[in-house]
Amino acid sequence: MADYQLIAEDGRAKSAEFKTVHGTVQTPVFMNVGTVAAIKGAVSTEDLEGIGTQVQLSNTYHLHLRPGDEIVKQLGGLHQFMSWDRPILTDSGGFQVFSLAQLRQIKEEGVSFRSHIDGHKIFMGPEESMQIQSNLASTIAMAFDECPSSKADREYVQKSVDRTTRWLVRCRDKMAELNSREDTINKDQMLFGINQGAIYPDIRIEHARQIRELDLDGYAVGGLAVGETHEEMYDILDQVVPELPRNKPVYLMGVGTPANIIEAVARGVDFFDCVYPSRNGRHGHVYTKHGHLNLFNAQYETDTRPIEEGCQCPVCRRYSRAYIRHLLKAKEMLGMRFCVLHNLYFYNHLMEEIRTAIRGGYFEAFRKERLEMLAKPD
Ligand SMILES: [Zn+2]
Repeated sequence: MADYQLIAEDGRAKSAEFKTVHGTVQTPVFMNVGTVAAIKGAVSTEDLEGIGTQVQLSNTYHLHLRPGDEIVKQLGGLHQFMSWDRPILTDSGGFQVFSLAQLRQIKEEGVSFRSHIDGHKIFMGPEESMQIQSNLASTIAMAFDECPSSKADREYVQKSVDRTTRWLVRCRDKMAELNSREDTINKDQMLFGINQGAIYPDIRIEHARQIRELDLDGYAVGGLAVGETHEEMYDILDQVVPELPRNKPVYLMGVGTPANIIEAVARGVDFFDCVYPSRNGRHGHVYTKHGHLNLFNAQYETDTRPIEEGCQCPVCRRYSRAYIRHLLKAKEMLGMRFCVLHNLYFYNHLMEEIRTAIRGGYFEAFRKERLEMLAKPD
């Protein structure tokens, strides 16, 4: 089903149309993170439609615990449950199992751990993760992997990556079986593999070469933005992205700031997700072309300008910094919601500007200008 058409290239930056059963995604794209089938900050499906969201990301681990993927399946899958008809990507649960769950134990079969909600014992391996994601019926499922710490020693990382490769083959086989079942909701579910290897370029390159042989629907670079410097991250991307297929989506997981995104696009990445815009918004930090503002600061008390002049988001078209600051200070939920909406719009719009620049052949000039603006607050 996967159909990825390159529309334009500018240096190593690329822009494509990715057709899915839930509609076409224009890349580069920023996926909006709805951890438990909701964007934190009281943002509804209508809101997302109004701010240009193309893809929502939902979380396998959280939905497996609550409400339970079998309940979601009974209710017709995530699309029906959330009333969202555009693409949804589900992560594999691996990252949360390794970062949130307690008392985990890793074996060849998978990982045993205790729920962070009520402590009950759970086992998750490649087959379980694929089964859960198939029940959720997302458009794109992510492979179950281990994300070793950027501080882990070389020997551990190599062992972990080898196991992740064996897990990936099991994910692919399980998904093929699930997609052929009569009662599967989305029989066209796609699978993205994940490159790991911490900050060891040779391990990452070798891993990228192995997984590209599996001819999956797309490839992600995982395990970055977990403690390494921006320069280390860019350096890894410089070496790894050229090893992944040019004619498939390349997804950089969990990244990042507007500057990180522009730099990664320049290195050939075209899918992103990050909690920054929603998390920062909930704390009154809002993005502009010149970096971010903290609306709690006293200087905005009588500021009648919108968050960003010229911004076409539903918040900036109508409300002032002074009013939003007041809502935040008064702890009104509306203040938080306005900041999250503006921030998500800002990210979605940034991607639109990036696509226009790549397709118009002026991405390099755009990159230089934007990075300079971000470095120079107004
Ligand atoms: Zn705005």
